[in-house]
Amino acid sequence: MRVLGIEGTAWCASAALYDAETDSVLIESDPYEPDSGGIHPREAAEHMSEAIPAVVDRVLTAAEDEHGPDAIDAVAFSRGPGLGPCLRIVGTAARSLAGTLDVPLVGVNHMVAHLEIGRHQSGFDNPVCLNASGANAHLLGYHDGRYRVLGETMDAGVGNAIDKFTRHVGWSHPGGPKVEAAAAEYASEADEDGGGAELLDMPYVVKGMDFSFSGISSAANDAADDGVPVEEICFSLQEHVFAMLTEVSERALSLTGADELVLGGGVAQNDRLREMLAAMCEARGADFHAPEPRFLRDNAGMIAVLGAKMAAAGDTVPIAESAVDPNFRPDRVPVTWRDGESV
Ligand code: ATP
Repeated sequence: MRVLGIEGTAWCASAALYDAETDSVLIESDPYEPDSGGIHPREAAEHMSEAIPAVVDRVLTAAEDEHGPDAIDAVAFSRGPGLGPCLRIVGTAARSLAGTLDVPLVGVNHMVAHLEIGRHQSGFDNPVCLNASGANAHLLGYHDGRYRVLGETMDAGVGNAIDKFTRHVGWSHPGGPKVEAAAAEYASEADEDGGGAELLDMPYVVKGMDFSFSGISSAANDAADDGVPVEEICFSLQEHVFAMLTEVSERALSLTGADELVLGGGVAQNDRLREMLAAMCEARGADFHAPEPRFLRDNAGMIAVLGAKMAAAGDTVPIAESAVDPNFRPDRVPVTWRDGESV
């Protein structure tokens, strides 16, 4: 089976071809990069409408060049969660493409796709998943036909919390990679000086399985206003935020009895987060998997891979019922594809 996936929940206009026979994925992406500030929904939607036709065309052309006019067996698209104006453009593109090619349409939950790409690649049977993305942060575990939300942020997504600070200090979007670089620079200079890195006192908010980032974003902004060097703030911000995520991940493994953890989402590109999670897993004898970066940030590859599993299970959607859902929670998705998985 070959599935053409389309992703467009926020900033990344992306199309992909997944060939289940060879387990290969071709991804074409065109990111929206705001001139200043964060992601502006109207500008993101304008970018989406300009970029989606081109990325889809590149993938479709590559597929038809190699496999002929019947190259595509199904079209999958990100149905939510995400920005409504962006989702509607992607939904319209996917519906018209499925209609033109006369193939089934598959509506994919973007957050379940962030999880499933890690499960697919690792071969893990029943992992806990930490989704650490821009607009979200939650732990998922499978039970009785659904991915249950074991714990989640009570306010901002993890990437958004970091980006809020970088906007405050005037850095361009996305802020996460810049915070990672600044934190690493501070840590290595502090090591060279012999004193070691200093941890600023910042709010660390974990309540059971849930956590909060709003206080730490404000504390980081206040520290910058008080003249604390920005690299030092970046280091402490990362250490606190990632320690919260590591603590709840460990608790989720402990509560469920699982011994596998997969990581998903754009913030998972951060080396320090992966290092902390890997160390925690090693200490408790659990296996850890983080996909390669092209499958962590928003991408259509993960949509196409899960779309193929759903299509193989007959989990397709009639065009008339394929409305997008900006608040599409992962625990609303009936997991149809795990029994007798064939792709
Ligand atoms: P969602 O998947 O919840 O819709 P999203 O659309 O914002 O989120 P993602 O690609 O999952 O998109 O994540 C983007 C976020 O990842 C941004 O907030 C960005 O700052 C953050 N990010 C990217 N690289 C890094 C990094 N190396 N370290 C920390 N954060 C990072």
